[in-house]
Amino acid sequence: MDITLFNTLGREKQIFKPITQGKAGVYTCGPTVYDYQHIGNFRTFMFEDFLKRVLMYNGYDVKHIMNITDVGHLVSDGDEGEDKMEKGSERTGKTVWEIAEYYTKVFMDDAKLLNILPPEKYTKATEYIKEQVDMIKCLEEKGFIYVTSDGVYFDTSKLSDYGKLARLDIEGLEEGSRIGFNEEKKNKTDFAVWKFSPKDGRRQMEWDSPWGKGFPGWHLECSAMSKATLGVTFDIHCGGIDHVPVHHTNEIAQSEACNGAESAHYWMHGAFLEEETGKMSKSKGEFLRVQTLIDKGYSPLDYRYMCLGTHYRKRLLFSWDVLDSAKTARVRLKNRIKALKENAANFTNITNDSNSVNKFKDKFLASINDDLNMPEALAVVWDTLKDESISPAAKLEMISEFDRVLGLDLEKAEAEIKQDVPAEVIALVNERIAAKKARDFKLADELRDKVKSLGFEIVDVKGGVKLKSIKN
Ligand code: AMP
Ligand code: ZN
Repeated sequence: MDITLFNTLGREKQIFKPITQGKAGVYTCGPTVYDYQHIGNFRTFMFEDFLKRVLMYNGYDVKHIMNITDVGHLVSDGDEGEDKMEKGSERTGKTVWEIAEYYTKVFMDDAKLLNILPPEKYTKATEYIKEQVDMIKCLEEKGFIYVTSDGVYFDTSKLSDYGKLARLDIEGLEEGSRIGFNEEKKNKTDFAVWKFSPKDGRRQMEWDSPWGKGFPGWHLECSAMSKATLGVTFDIHCGGIDHVPVHHTNEIAQSEACNGAESAHYWMHGAFLEEETGKMSKSKGEFLRVQTLIDKGYSPLDYRYMCLGTHYRKRLLFSWDVLDSAKTARVRLKNRIKALKENAANFTNITNDSNSVNKFKDKFLASINDDLNMPEALAVVWDTLKDESISPAAKLEMISEFDRVLGLDLEKAEAEIKQDVPAEVIALVNERIAAKKARDFKLADELRDKVKSLGFEIVDVKGGVKLKSIKN
């Protein structure tokens, strides 16, 4: 069955046609490791995980590369402002190298908790400086760059189809009042491929180059690293929707200018996770992390279930109520499967209606292959469970197959699942454990009483606590 994917380049769903039969090369823009990733970032990484799992389910051998941005991403996403890494270093008092290592590790740990499959390779921007310098040299030979006092810039007027991804209206673009805008830029849309270190100071991360000491522009890393790992033209490139007008537009420009060939065939973008106040972002200061969810008594997979429930191209508004509903549904689903397992042996006499089995398998495949329609795929799982003409054993077999795409660990025993314990109670129990650890016994007692008022008795046992319902 064909897979159709929404290609931002053509603004339409297109049948996926790989460059090499049976193989898919996928490049996804990874985290900037100056801080923790929030659950909004992970919505994008999960959509990319759904894509990868769908391709694998369809038998593709997927080569997935994800970059780690550990240099060059400026606060503005463009060419102005400080490097986020250097800013993170000031904030934490640690070196840029230390924070890169720390936040990369936390990112990988969180991704694992969300059942996001790791890429074949993580490429760090700082490990591909030579490839990035080579690409600037290539652009220089072809006459696409010019040097200003603060860096080397790509001349976007030299590329006839610049801005094709974002369908930028170049003529009509207004510069606005950007503070610190570089007057030496020839065109509003020109962007830096190399920025010079400040004349009066040193950066923690800087390298020599034919144009002067400095560091690569943020967009350049993805062009150079995708070329080094997947080749000049590859199948699919993904990222969050915010990457369309600047980052991916500029990536396409410099890749295609240097290589003289098309970059990726399919460009896919995930919509934002939003809050009441707009896009979830790190610049707002406080943000939700995977650990925040765990501390509040949720499983990271509750959030995965929540993301599966909304199509990746639709905005998703975060609220604790929505997460609560996802948690309830996920736990119900797991408990239904647990019951199926217990009953499987008792119902061997049910003859499966193979038409029903095939109907659900086909429906599931049709859903995921329709531009990753995961909400519909989830509905197929529930419908499969309800169908009386299929034996428990056959249902289990199908659901375990479906879970290769959903990644919800549906068959894995989860001792800590407490269907009847509200998230609020679990959060209080975690707080009490922390209070006891800090030897704040007064607070620990208060929290125990609070939990009691919500209908649960905390029983301290060796190595942890147990909860007893005292509702009745
Ligand atoms: P960053 O660490 O800022 O480079 O972002 C990592 C990824 O998260 C990028 O693909 C962004 O487009 C994406 N992203 C940023 N904010 C959000 C959000 N609120 N919802 C979904 N994806 C986001
Ligand atoms: Zn990128």
